[in-house]
Amino acid sequence: MKTITTKDAIKTITTHYIDRAFVESHGRETMDIISPTSGKLIGRVTLADVEDTRRAIAAAKGAFADFSRSAKEERAKILRRLHEAASARIDDLTATMVEEYGGVVQFAGLIVQTGVNAFVAAEKALNELPLTRSWGKTTVTLEPVGVAGLITAWNANTLFICLKLASAVAAGCTVVIKPSELSSLQTQVLVEALHEANLPKGLLNVVTGLGNVVGAELVGNPDVAKISFTGSVAVGETIMRDGAKTMKRVTLELGGKSPTILLDDAALDQAIPSALVMAFMNSGQACAAGTRLLVPKNRLDAVKQGIRDAIHAFPVGDPADPKTAIGPMVSQKQYDRVQSYIRKGIEEGAEVLVGGEGHPAGFEAGYFMKPTVFVNVKNDMTIAREEIFGPVLCVIAYDSEDEAIRIANDSQYGLHAAVLGTDLQRARRVASQIRAGRVVINTMTDDPQAPWGGFKYSGIGREYGRYGIEAFLETRAILES
Ligand code: NAD
Repeated sequence: MKTITTKDAIKTITTHYIDRAFVESHGRETMDIISPTSGKLIGRVTLADVEDTRRAIAAAKGAFADFSRSAKEERAKILRRLHEAASARIDDLTATMVEEYGGVVQFAGLIVQTGVNAFVAAEKALNELPLTRSWGKTTVTLEPVGVAGLITAWNANTLFICLKLASAVAAGCTVVIKPSELSSLQTQVLVEALHEANLPKGLLNVVTGLGNVVGAELVGNPDVAKISFTGSVAVGETIMRDGAKTMKRVTLELGGKSPTILLDDAALDQAIPSALVMAFMNSGQACAAGTRLLVPKNRLDAVKQGIRDAIHAFPVGDPADPKTAIGPMVSQKQYDRVQSYIRKGIEEGAEVLVGGEGHPAGFEAGYFMKPTVFVNVKNDMTIAREEIFGPVLCVIAYDSEDEAIRIANDSQYGLHAAVLGTDLQRARRVASQIRAGRVVINTMTDDPQAPWGGFKYSGIGREYGRYGIEAFLETRAILES
């Protein structure tokens, strides 16, 4: 099914997905979709209003009565159908992420695949999760929490939608999704795909609109029991505050300023490329990006030289080119924001080792920027404390292992961290002292059953595997006399 029309080379979306149908938007406001690669207009989306959102919530509420009582087997079957349906459009989903967001194809492919796999991962987790426990005359069951509002960020929209939807369905919840308005084309392709799964009516509803309209309605509406949100700390705070009035359950997946601790026994020829991959993944627009590289003082010169050599393996270019490592920033606003941090870093006395302000030569159109590495960074500088969300790496020197751990933990964030070193026992010892929701040793790796989420300002709650499903469940005890 095709719901994106093309007129004068502009892609147009005018519908939302409510009660298993693509329905014309009640909201009339439109938003232009600009290509980050060229800066040119490529599409236009009609944004939902409060009325569209309420219709979607009503559909989800209607469907909850039946779906909340579904058996595990039925939910498992639905997850398999969702997996099949999304799998059929992997190439389109990847191409749209490259076109609309400027994600580099080598990473966009991975993101989309991880999203599609979330449905089978949730099925496995559901099968392994006991939903009933009983002893004596007491029975405890895990019940779906209610209608869930799923709100996503733009940097991996397909992954976030699939992940949240998979966990919610496994738990027996019905959903209203508010995707990032910057991901309208990507969302529409995904919804077209998921429509083919022929889900029960009202289980899946998707309304594209602005955060302060559609998102705010989801957060304030008493018929929505749970908000699962991926985005910034600022909006996360709003959701907690405004959601309190209707006692919303919340999962908040927020920002990060993740440390990569390079231990003094690390093999630099492997550790430096790994550190740069972690810093520059998704063109630096990644919540988990390892943006603070902690280096022992006695190896600082060797690390600087290693970075100068290794940076050539991270070319800026057309995101559709498989050789490109760094694509454009998502928008002019994001480009300006990242540039302002580079200026701030220079003003505060950090030294640019590679990169710097402005567009790379030959990439003046679009929102391309130079991957930038700062040295002589102190952990109290703005560039070491605030999330930049672009390809900007801060190298911070340390004297001892204890100091490295102290600096790593000296952050308001605690989402992700990496430890690089050859002595595994030692690397594990360091990893166990990091206050972050996930720590990887030596390479960026993933496990679809391992929890994802943050300590401190990086958020509340966990996603993935059984942890993700539990976030959509309530516990009920029935006691007989
Ligand atoms: P954002 O907070 O600006 O927007 C996220 C979503 O919230 C969008 O859909 C937006 O429309 C919506 N929104 C805005 N105002 C709202 C309101 N008042 N009520 C309800 N919803 C509202 O974030 P962004 O710029 O899209 O994404 C970047 C941020 O997301 C970064 O901070 C990044 O670290 C974070 N992020 C976190 C994770 C994670 O897993 N922890 C993953 C990716 C991105």
